[in-house]
Amino acid sequence: MLMKTYLDAAEAAHAELTRIDQVAGDGDFGDNLRDGLRGVVSRLPSGADLATEFDVAATWFLDEVGGTSGPLIGLLLRETAAELAKRGDEDAALVAGLAGGLAAIQRVGEAKVGDRTMVDCLAPTIDGLNDATGPVDWTATATAALANARATADLRARMGRASYVGERVLGTPDAGAMGIALLFWALAVHRD
Ligand code: ADP
Ligand code: MG
Ligand code: MG
Repeated sequence: MLMKTYLDAAEAAHAELTRIDQVAGDGDFGDNLRDGLRGVVSRLPSGADLATEFDVAATWFLDEVGGTSGPLIGLLLRETAAELAKRGDEDAALVAGLAGGLAAIQRVGEAKVGDRTMVDCLAPTIDGLNDATGPVDWTATATAALANARATADLRARMGRASYVGERVLGTPDAGAMGIALLFWALAVHRD
């Protein structure tokens, strides 16, 4: 189950996600992601297909998960669920859905590339997916996502709470960007 794999990653990274959100923000991102995914996994019917997984996860994150990240990740999951519901090629639906989700996140949150948010993981990683030809290489995508998330360590924040702390964040990556990289990691575990 993809969301169980994402949860396992969020459990494993919880302490570190908490620490890096403490450097830049209020330290609750690890809780928000882990607890959100625990809620999703506990609500997924056994044998759920990928479309159902994303649909259940989207509803839970949009309605129940706190922080700035909860509803924004909810938008990403909802757009992906909508593409998967069309029942075409699953990899193509995932790519289109993630791109639609990024657009929704930017519409609502108004973050641009370089603002030190989850957009800095999503945008370049999705650009890479759109530029590639042939079958989707999810392992290469996950590797790129991690590198893109890590690169936020060089950015100052302009959005959210992290914008109040200025220079102190330099050297530490954005928690939300790292949390999104774990979704790409889970996709690589399941799709390659
Ligand atoms: P809060 O900052 O309310 O405590 P979380 O800790 O759950 O929320 O999530 C923080 C993460 O949300 C940040 O690390 C960043 O990646 C992301 N984020 C914050 N503001 C925005 C925004 N406007 N657009 C996209 N992502 C954002
Ligand atoms: Mg926080
Ligand atoms: Mg908070």
